[in-house]
Amino acid sequence: MPLYIYQSEAAFIVRTSRQFESIETCWQLLGTSSPSGVTVITYVVDCGPNAVHEPTFCQPDQDYLEREGSRLVQRYGLRHVGGAHSHHRLGLNVPSGYDVRTTMDGMRSEGLQRFVQMIVTYDDVNTRLNAFMFTPDGYERMDLQVLLGTSPVRKMEESL
Ligand SMILES: [Zn+2]
Repeated sequence: MPLYIYQSEAAFIVRTSRQFESIETCWQLLGTSSPSGVTVITYVVDCGPNAVHEPTFCQPDQDYLEREGSRLVQRYGLRHVGGAHSHHRLGLNVPSGYDVRTTMDGMRSEGLQRFVQMIVTYDDVNTRLNAFMFTPDGYERMDLQVLLGTSPVRKMEESL
């Protein structure tokens, strides 16, 4: 199944992942999702100024996320379609066992049928964005399709 992401949002992930060299960082993915599961990522939110970053752990700034999340949802009608975090140079391009457990537990407690998880890895040259669609039955790799240009939501945000 394809996962669409605007070029500006993929670039935002690539750029901000590199600000935390060999340290984990994380993001929230906002966008739209059709009943059949076609998902478009329109805006990526970073983890905030008071997030905690460790080599294999990222604790987002919860106040920032709640404030930004509700503002963006109300202003643009977006949904929280997924999350992303960096495995930086760990060489693990798939969700860890811990990632799978926490994602499935989170979906169960929120009553979600679908949730995207993106795992970001990089080396000296390349950055990889690995996307997975989780459902109550498990997860599968998604084919990431980049929509050229700047997302309309980011354009609006930059003009504020
Ligand atoms: Zn992980």
